[in-house]
Amino acid sequence: MNARSETPAPYGPPAAPEAERWMREALALAHAAQDRGEVPVGAVVVRDGAIVGRGGNAPIAANDPTAHAEIAALRSAAAALGNYRLPDCDLYVTLEPCAMCAGAIMHARVRRLVFGARDPKTGACGSVIDLFAEARLNHHTRVTGELLATECGALLSAFFAARRANA
Ligand SMILES: [Zn+2]
Repeated sequence: MNARSETPAPYGPPAAPEAERWMREALALAHAAQDRGEVPVGAVVVRDGAIVGRGGNAPIAANDPTAHAEIAALRSAAAALGNYRLPDCDLYVTLEPCAMCAGAIMHARVRRLVFGARDPKTGACGSVIDLFAEARLNHHTRVTGELLATECGALLSAFFAARRANA
């Protein structure tokens, strides 16, 4: 099942009808990250029905602990649009963002965040902590979780199972 779950109020209506299409684009970037030996996570930023930013997880190759897929996609979109704020943009990512990425998403003023699999170890959208539910933080992002969660999660599970087998 690819059930969707909306984070509790005050967050808004479900993602757009074409949301699965964008998540599949993020999944393709996750596969590409895996091919480079990185943990398979991918993200896209969408504005007015078009992708304006793409990112794949790359901390190992970049020697950069901040090189998460969301950060890369936000940087790519902000550069493309010439604006450090992305208020008309939606971010699709295959894995529930961590606290660092949740902070970056808030700073960018992303309109909507749609994520795939939940991350019970570092997820900052309700799994470990819910930064988007913190009313004292000034942000405008609505959150939709668990879109294509099974596919997004299976990719990660297979990656870690293979890594354990090779260890
Ligand atoms: Zn992150």
